[in-house]
Amino acid sequence: MLQKILIANRGEIAVRVIRAARELGIKTVAVYSELDRNALHVRLADEAYALGGQTAAESYLNTEAILDAIRQSGADAVHPGYGFFSENADFARAITGMGVTWIGPPPEAIDEMGDKVSSRLAAQRGGAPIVPGTTEFAQGPDEIRDFGNAYGFPVCIKAAFGGGGRGMKVVQSADGVDDAMASAQREAKAFFGRDEVYVEKYLTWPRHVEVQIVGDQQGDVVWVSTRDCSAQRRHQKLIEEAPAPGLPDGVEDAMGEAAVKAAKAVGYYNAGTVEFIYQDGEFFFLEMNTRLQVEHPVTEVITGIDLVEWQIRVASGEPLPMTQEQVAARRYGHGIEIRINAEDPAGGKFLPSPGPITKLVPPDGFGVRFDSGYESGDEISQYYDNLVGKLIVWGRTRDIAIARTIRALDELVVEGVATTIPADLAILRHPDFVAVEHSTKWVEQNLDLSGVGSVSAAAPEADGEELVERTTTVEVNGKRFAVKMWVPPSTAVAAAAAPARQKRAAAGSGAAAGGSGQVTVPMQGTIVKILVEVGQQIELGQGIVVLEAMKMENQINAEKAGVVKEIKVATGDTVGGGDVVAIIE
Ligand code: ADP
Ligand code: ADP
Ligand code: MG
Repeated sequence: MLQKILIANRGEIAVRVIRAARELGIKTVAVYSELDRNALHVRLADEAYALGGQTAAESYLNTEAILDAIRQSGADAVHPGYGFFSENADFARAITGMGVTWIGPPPEAIDEMGDKVSSRLAAQRGGAPIVPGTTEFAQGPDEIRDFGNAYGFPVCIKAAFGGGGRGMKVVQSADGVDDAMASAQREAKAFFGRDEVYVEKYLTWPRHVEVQIVGDQQGDVVWVSTRDCSAQRRHQKLIEEAPAPGLPDGVEDAMGEAAVKAAKAVGYYNAGTVEFIYQDGEFFFLEMNTRLQVEHPVTEVITGIDLVEWQIRVASGEPLPMTQEQVAARRYGHGIEIRINAEDPAGGKFLPSPGPITKLVPPDGFGVRFDSGYESGDEISQYYDNLVGKLIVWGRTRDIAIARTIRALDELVVEGVATTIPADLAILRHPDFVAVEHSTKWVEQNLDLSGVGSVSAAAPEADGEELVERTTTVEVNGKRFAVKMWVPPSTAVAAAAAPARQKRAAAGSGAAAGGSGQVTVPMQGTIVKILVEVGQQIELGQGIVVLEAMKMENQINAEKAGVVKEIKVATGDTVGGGDVVAIIE
């Protein structure tokens, strides 16, 4: 068995892995950026090492710093979590090259499944149906137009190396192809460092159904459960459930078997997910995620199987603990996961809302689990994913699980940042969702979020004179040590109050923009594109700039019609919430 696992990640998934390792009696090592010096995953690990830097590129994607931490800590295994290096075959090879165990699939399988084009070929070889589309990189917009004209629009331009809904653009007609292709490439280049794209048919009312698989190094692969992740915005999941409800007889088993075939086609072991889209009784392979997924807990709660424990066991060479029949016999009841993101869903906009969490009270009670990377007082940084935590609920039936999830969401308190919770409640209470009549388009096309208010940032309370206990950290040769101190409460409160004030100011100037003709950005970020020129006549709602913040491109639109008088920013500029980027007369 492994002795010491370094978790090359942050947030809730690092916490999740630390907990599993601890239960197995394995020591844990955290790594952290400057902003995460005192983060929950760092507090929970047995040891922690500084990576330096703030952005993901400077810290959690800094190969040398992570390899150093592995050497210094003497860890004999690395768990990559999801995101960051989890699907990076070169990183996996660097780990195994040091004689350290990689808790993940073979690097060759990551390579083959990591690119959406070669994964489509692998799925086809294994005998799983794929979405109609090309199986080569597009050389230019003409190929995409030709495909659309032949198979019909809409089509979907996808970054071959994309993920998390990024680098994917839907095109409604031949006119939009050039812009969409450029935008997909720009996003892909920025996030994944590569900009190859291909095209596939865009289904108009599909469900997203995926299959969790786990394989061992002896060559055995089982599928553990299906999951439905159709409640999405911007092609990103909001709510997931297991099993996928309401499928015709035989479809679930057929998908499970197709997933196992796709996995075996690339010699897969460890945990992975095969994603399909499902429409009218048919299913098509979308991609394989060669890692643990955000929504893995819904599978855990309906089977009682700890998937991270299984990952650790098969990585250390043990065979799978159960056969396919034994796994199938364990499935019971229904699981629902709510991703709590720091985003304001008002009006269906889902605008990023980073900042300090002034108060966080997780729900509790029968069938309720809360996986989070934060506690009260922690900050959601604009540099990382905005996932605050995940609420996972089990119920004997889907209806019971829905009712219990609503109850738990009502109990959950998150203050200081806006969250997706109001949108989640609107989804769970909607008859279309209850009847499983929704699709991946449903949240954006059918769900009315106009009345959904954002949760306002609560003002921090001023405490009395008593000193409060604070834990601070010191670093000695890059290794972190925790030190306890007792300080006046004002010191602690002041730090939390500043960004909250900033946010209110930004919202205020945003509202004023409509009248004054000042176009402001609602949050901190980087200008990636300017869509207008000085002197240009523009309409109400026309796009002015593209702002990238929290791993997302946001188009900032004019709140008034007129002529562009001044553009105050250039491509590549960093702007703060409330900054004026253009003036319209
Ligand atoms: P899931 O597939 O479990 O729904 P997502 O696709 O939302 O998960 O991605 C999970 C995490 O991984 C997110 O933090 C996302 O930003 C990140 N991610 C996904 N694909 C990649 C990739 N190819 N490279 C880097 N990060 C990725
Ligand atoms: P990512 O790597 O970003 O997760 P996926 O290929 O898994 O990319 O697609 C993400 C989501 O986008 C899917 O869950 C689905 O909702 C939607 N989607 C992707 N491809 C198509 C398609 N061809 N037709 C309709 N919806 C699609
Ligand atoms: Mg996907």
